[in-house]
Amino acid sequence: MINAAFAVLSGDAGGVAEPEQVDVVVVGLGVGGEEVAGRLAESGLSVVGVERDLVGGECPYWGCIPSKMMIRAANALAEARRIDGLAGSAQVRPDWAPVAKRIREEATDTWNDRAAVDRFVGRGGRFVRGSGRLDGPGRVRVGDQLFEARYGVVIGTGTRPSVPPVEGLADTPYWTNHHAIEVEELPGSLLVLGGGAIGLELSQVFARFGVRVTIVEALDRVLAVEEPEASEAATSALRADGVEVHTGVRTERVDHDGERFTLRAHGGAEFTAERLLVVTGRRAHLDELGLEAVGVDADQRYLPVDDRMRVTDGIWAVGDVTGEGAFTHIAMYQAAIVIADVLDRARHARPGADPSGTASVVGGAMGAASALGASGSSGTAGTVPRADYRALPRVTFTDPEIGAVGLTEEQARSRGINVQVGFSKLGESTRGWIHRVGDEGFIKLIADADEGVLIGATSAGPAGGEVLSGLVVAVHAAVPLSQLRHMIYAYPTFHRAIEDALRHLR
Ligand SMILES: Cc1cc2nc3c(=O)[nH]c(=O)nc-3n(C[C@H](O)[C@H](O)[C@H](O)COP(=O)(O)OP(=O)(O)OC[C@H]3O[C@@H](n4cnc5c(N)ncnc54)[C@H](O)[C@@H]3O)c2cc1C
Repeated sequence: MINAAFAVLSGDAGGVAEPEQVDVVVVGLGVGGEEVAGRLAESGLSVVGVERDLVGGECPYWGCIPSKMMIRAANALAEARRIDGLAGSAQVRPDWAPVAKRIREEATDTWNDRAAVDRFVGRGGRFVRGSGRLDGPGRVRVGDQLFEARYGVVIGTGTRPSVPPVEGLADTPYWTNHHAIEVEELPGSLLVLGGGAIGLELSQVFARFGVRVTIVEALDRVLAVEEPEASEAATSALRADGVEVHTGVRTERVDHDGERFTLRAHGGAEFTAERLLVVTGRRAHLDELGLEAVGVDADQRYLPVDDRMRVTDGIWAVGDVTGEGAFTHIAMYQAAIVIADVLDRARHARPGADPSGTASVVGGAMGAASALGASGSSGTAGTVPRADYRALPRVTFTDPEIGAVGLTEEQARSRGINVQVGFSKLGESTRGWIHRVGDEGFIKLIADADEGVLIGATSAGPAGGEVLSGLVVAVHAAVPLSQLRHMIYAYPTFHRAIEDALRHLR
């Protein structure tokens, strides 16, 4: 699905090429890599951006954007179904065609990245299509091209679906998120292996469009990384949409007979469906990056970085590959730090001199970096911001939406923190009562009683991800509980449930 206008460069090098000198090489132009490469190029550095598939990566083509278009459509169906008893009656006839068309035409340009490539080149970057591989300190090989970076190499190669080693599975035509996003005609039934955020979001979408969906999860609850109350809310919402949810089920074997999949579980249970979607997590493929050439262990799940995103001297990593959270907002946050640190290095490497126009523009890009929102000591020119994930927000875009920030109750207790918990149900708030059908949700607050601040929160409800924003500020800025109790919450909003939960903290 790559743009035919660009040559595909991959495979082994063949001959030994003279390295071409550049300032920075960015390998992998997903959300994080594209941002780093584009900003550094705009700053006047000579930047080579290497991408083997589509510039923009997973988020615009097979992730956030098309999946949220699907969710928007599915939620419209669900809202229409809520008219009965509230505002008359409505008959809903779902049709997948406009959703598939919107994804094809508006979101992905039929999975063509011409516009993104042009955007990068327009910012001053040099684009190379192919697989990048480290070839020694500062060196990256792409097919028979060899680049040597003066200031450094940035790895933004993301993750790919992690497929469990279940007997028979590899020989079947199972779906990953790519197939689920590209689907033009919906199957009658779908097995979803994995009850994490992506599995839940896609399950609810397909169920709302009439697909018989069955989720099979090995752990004892879906959305297991979040609060148990979040798992319960998601499970009952999915069941209300007709999704079968099976937890604590260990898959032992998968077969496909040409028409249907059969999943056999430990203990003898069997599940069948026309299609099988595998969403059991994602993993980085470090073995492809030539890390041994720079003395970095490739036998790790992710590429560990310090708080300036440095892997080792002259190598930075950004986005999912770092394992700090598989979210576009993490990739963007980290990108701002990488940009600032690379420019800092460039400035120190050439004090006074400005052969590539770097020095004159470094300040500008530093401003851009802090404008992007990297925190820590950001904002002061010349100071590289440090990564701080204390207030990392995450939203599962099911209906109800489940937003969370910081620590869960269990995480806080396991750290020995003197924990207080506050809980309120959305349905018991004025706005929830007015909203009536579809008002499921809650606020759960986790406070450090000794410090008198929130260290975690969950906000589930019709606008759970939006309500979360106030809680993210509270955790990020360590706003004292006394301040949170004495601020004014607009009436009658969903976020007033935060005030109720604060009142119940104990
Ligand atoms: C279904 C789904 C829904 C999601 N929804 C959300 C959401 O709502 N909100 C959110 O914040 N996040 C969401 N995400 C996660 C989000 O998509 C990722 O966090 C984000 O794409 C990470 O960006 P990245 O730059 O780290 O990597 P990627 O986007 O994965 O990009 C990495 C790029 O590197 C390229 N590459 C890899 N190896 C090489 C190599 N050796 N040489 C050259 N190129 C290489 C790949 O082709 C790819 O284009 C979702 C993900 C999925 C799958």
